[in-house]
Amino acid sequence: MVAGAMSGCAASAQGSGSDDRPVVLTTFTVLADVAQNVAGDHLRVESITKVGAEIHGYEPTPRDIAKASEADLILDNGLNLESWFGQFVESVDVPHVVVSDGVEPLDITEDAYAGKPNPHAWMSPVNVQLYVDNMVDAFAELDPEHAADFEANGAEYQAKLQKVQDELVTGLSALPENQRALVTCEGAFSYLARDAGLTEQYIWPVNAEQQATPQQITSAIEFVETNDVPAVFCESTVSDKPMQQVVEATGAAFGGTLYVDSLSAADGPVPTYLDLIRYDATTIVDALTGSGS
Ligand SMILES: [Zn+2]
Repeated sequence: MVAGAMSGCAASAQGSGSDDRPVVLTTFTVLADVAQNVAGDHLRVESITKVGAEIHGYEPTPRDIAKASEADLILDNGLNLESWFGQFVESVDVPHVVVSDGVEPLDITEDAYAGKPNPHAWMSPVNVQLYVDNMVDAFAELDPEHAADFEANGAEYQAKLQKVQDELVTGLSALPENQRALVTCEGAFSYLARDAGLTEQYIWPVNAEQQATPQQITSAIEFVETNDVPAVFCESTVSDKPMQQVVEATGAAFGGTLYVDSLSAADGPVPTYLDLIRYDATTIVDALTGSGS
């Protein structure tokens, strides 16, 4: 027993000294965390953008490009999330895989981005099950020796995603149909709303750089009043001031802050993707059904 522990120790010390595992680079923290769950210990997974970074309009540095050129595989979200990525990936000679492949895209319906797919597909645990399938395939090709492990890790992770999805749907089922509405600042929740049977309403569409217009706020107020919506929400990355106007005008509760584009640091509220999607699902169900406090 002692000998076993010793050799295990020696092996891991050697491993950290010269880490020759294949390197998988993702474009943002959410993908890195999902990928790490699928990869287990077999691959080294890192994110190009850091926790809290603005991911849509990120500008890669020369250091990012140097790092990427040494990676064995790059994973990007696709659906126009990473507007910077096309040029980035062309500058390095590394294969890349689009993890949203197979997701049924929802288009943005308003403003400058009308007709373009909404990139926030990972905001539905159902879609992320597809992300996992794509990662399992990509990793099996990269490291065929561990294909069975990737498959097992993926299946285990998909079961956890299914549980979040089931709890969300069950939690919302008690609500009258008109109150099954998700009113947020940005239109980042189209996929979650679709897969959870919620009507989506937002003050402004995704990626809009302008402030909320008075008309946008008025139409959110009208929606909340017409449907007697119990609570409204706002994403962590934007100002909730316009939504507070909706709260004041309608008497709906402010249901809380939702996380979308980035994980938090390890000691924050959403250090993993499962934490993020569980946090959002629980916040939404609790605020809409009044079961939180
Ligand atoms: Zn976003």
